Order: sequence, then C-alpha cells, then structure tokens
Amino acid sequence: MAQPYKLTIPHDRAERLQYIRRIFPQALGSFLSDEWRGGRHEALKRLNSMDAVAYNRNRDFINGAVTKLSPFFRHGCLTLKEASDSAKSRFGDQAEKFIAELARRDYWRHVWYDKGNGIFSDIEDPKVALGDKLMPDFIRQGITGLPCMDGFIRDLTHDGYVHNHARMWFAAYVVHWLKVDWREAADWFENNLLDGDKASNHLSWQWVASLFSSKPYFFNKENLARYTGEKYCANCKITCPFDHSYEALNDQLFANQTPRPAKKHKISMPLKEPISTHQAIAIFVHDEMLSAAHPLLRKPMPKIFVYDEFLHGRWPLKRLQFLADCLNELQDVEVWMGDTQTVLKNRGVGQVITQQTPNRQVKALLDPFNPIWEPEVKLVQASISEARLKRFSRYWEKVGPELLGDRFNQQS
Ligand SMILES: Cc1cc2nc3c(=O)[nH]c(=O)nc-3n(C[C@H](O)[C@H](O)[C@H](O)COP(=O)(O)OP(=O)(O)OC[C@H]3O[C@@H](n4cnc5c(N)ncnc54)[C@H](O)[C@@H]3O)c2cc1C
Repeated sequence: MAQPYKLTIPHDRAERLQYIRRIFPQALGSFLSDEWRGGRHEALKRLNSMDAVAYNRNRDFINGAVTKLSPFFRHGCLTLKEASDSAKSRFGDQAEKFIAELARRDYWRHVWYDKGNGIFSDIEDPKVALGDKLMPDFIRQGITGLPCMDGFIRDLTHDGYVHNHARMWFAAYVVHWLKVDWREAADWFENNLLDGDKASNHLSWQWVASLFSSKPYFFNKENLARYTGEKYCANCKITCPFDHSYEALNDQLFANQTPRPAKKHKISMPLKEPISTHQAIAIFVHDEMLSAAHPLLRKPMPKIFVYDEFLHGRWPLKRLQFLADCLNELQDVEVWMGDTQTVLKNRGVGQVITQQTPNRQVKALLDPFNPIWEPEVKLVQASISEARLKRFSRYWEKVGPELLGDRFNQQS
C-alpha cells in the first residue's frame, strides 16, 4: 500500500479544484459546479436566505424553494439544531414544514444509530415482490430513453444534487419498474451525490421498496407532470410507462407475484488491527464534522483529517472538491491522503478524540486508537425508544412537541 502523505490544500479556489483533480486522477464525474461551494460560510449564507413561506407552498415542486442544505448537514458544516432554531426565530409557525423535514433526517440518523450496519439489509419483509437485477448500464449512463429519468440522472451525475421528489420517482422506477436490486441501486446513487448519506439514502430506498414502510411507493404520469410543470412531459415522444391509474399500475407492477422474505446484504469493514501503544492524543476530524465552529477544533492538540480510500474511494470528483472547500475553512487541521490507521500510527497517536457517529466503518477504523466519542449536537433532547423508530410518524409524535411547542398541540 502507498505511504500516506500530507496535503497542502490551496487557499485559492480555482487552484484548489485543480489540485483535487490532480491528486485524485481516478475520481469520476465532472468538476464541482459553480452553484456549489463547501464550508460553513456558504452553509450560513444559504440558511439565511431560505424562505419558509415559499417552502411551505412549493417544496414538492421540482423548481420549488428548497434549500439545498443537505450537503452541508451531511458534512457537519451546519447542525440541524442551528437550522431549526434559525427558521423558528425568523418564521415562527411558518417554519413548521421545514422543521419537520429536518426531523426526517434526524429520524433516519436515529435509526442508523439503532441498527448500525443493519440499515444495509432489508429492515422488514417486503410487502410486494422485489427484483434482484443488476443496475443496467443504460441507467448508469443516463440513456433510459425517458426524458424525465435521463434528466434526473443528469442532475445526479453533473450536479450531485437531485430534488427529493425526483429521488422518489427515480428510486421507484429503478426498483419497481426495472426490478433492480435496491441495495445495488442505493449504493450507486449514494456514490454520486454531494449529500450522500448512508442513513437518509439507504433508508429512503428501503422506504420506496416497502422494506421500511407498509406499502411500496410508486407514482404515475399525472403526479410527475404536475410537480415538474410538464418540464419533461411536454415534448416527450415515448409511450409513457407511467401513464396509467394507480390501480392499473399496482396490478401491472405487483399482481400475482409472491414477495420473498427479508434479505441480508453485506457491507465491507476494515480489518481488525491491534490497539495502538503510542502516546500522543489527537483530534480525529472525520467527514461529518467539517465546521470551523466545531468545539473539538478549539482543543490544543493535533487535528487530523484523512482522505481515506476505504471511506472516500468511490466518491465523485465534485464531492472530493466540496470536501476540500470545507477543509480550507478549518484552522490547523492536518490533511492527509492514505490509510487512516497508518497515518495515525506514523503520527505516534495512541488515542483519538472525535465526534460520535453511527458509521460503523469509521468506528472500526478508529477502534485501535482508544477513541473518546464526544456527543454530536442533538436536534432534540427527548430520548427516542426503539418502538418510536418503527415509523417516522411515531418518532414525530414524540419530537414534534419539543420542536414546535403549542403549535404541535394545535395541529394534532
Ligand atoms: C431515494 C432517496 C435517496 C436520498 N438520499 C439522500 C442522501 O444520500 N442524503 C441526504 O441528505 N438526503 C437524501 N434523501 C433525502 C432528501 O431527498 C434530501 O435530503 C433532500 O432532497 C435534500 O435537498 P434540500 O437540502 O434542498 O432539502 P429541503 O427540502 O430544503 O429540506 C431541508 C433539509 O431537510 C432534510 N430533508 C428534507 N427532505 C428529507 C427527506 N425526505 N429525508 C431526509 N431528510 C430530508 C435534509 O437534511 C434537507 O437538507 C434521499 C431521498 C430519497 C427519496
């Protein structure tokens, strides 16, 4: 294995993007588009310009006033609590819908803490028959022949961002129409996103597939046309596979097929290493805590981030560039390229202090370094029982009152 080496991330933006291109020659996809820039500075700018009133009105529409904050939450540039507090103070009751969506991310994360690597296997038995086909190349290349699906794949591979509704339609098309194995599709999808998050992504695919809900999610042309404003349908010349009633589609997609039982899926884990006998203590900065305001970054000890092939080897170029923007804002953080355990051993580290994470791959990598896991900032203080984690509605019943106060009681 190649020896790790320390990186010097250029402060100049254009140089920085080129530098990342040079040091990751194997990374796929296009440059980070001009619309995106990683880091807390940009996250706060976006948060301050969000409009909760417009969000309430049109978030489900493809050109609605969504915030595009997800890559910033994913990499820890901003916490859900900061976003919720800010929205509440600026918009009061009008912030309810936005806060409920923040809670949805928090819910998936609780489920990840609870189930660990179990989120990569079927959570429940499927309620309908699912397929186990490999991802076809025409999906990877965005040449399905359907303008809508090809458009969503272009959003994914060019920008690394896809609107929530389009993610739902796309996942339903792949899982229910094409009968692709959900896990294979979910892995591919996550590896192309700027906000790729194992909990939000894999559990959403399971929700669409009916592995973490009481029924499958699917849609018809009328629904897609309504929320895309005919953007794709107006000039579509294809015989539309979605142009049917829900009853007809249900029959076509699921009738006369027996669902199989829940399946287990594998996830790769690092090899076990012996406990480090070195002396130094360091802050390990992982990829969910990239904020200049992070309290651990104020501690007077070495701070180390590693671009690690095991964790980041399948990330697209644009996401590695987004990460470099985030790292550029952090003071005194050593940035390394290589294998995390070798970097820490070479630096004489016997103990790491870092932020808690549900990511078992990160935990296993740090295991030999007697990690101290500092809690992450919580969205809510309420403790969530396992029974509440069965469905979002049960979790929301518990956390809604804490987040919305009287407003929640008026609603329910
Ligand atoms: C198949 C599929 C895969 C997904 N994969 C990911 C993923 O890898 N990473 C990821 O962050 N989100 C994922 N989501 C959830 C959601 O689509 C995105 O969080 C959302 O589209 C991000 O855009 P935004 O920041 O503009 O959202 P906004 O609508 O502006 O919402 C604000 C924030 O609320 C949270 N949020 C909104 N909708 C959802 C949702 N349905 N589930 C969870 N959190 C939500 C996000 O943190 C988001 O940034 C996935 C959804 C589906 C259906």
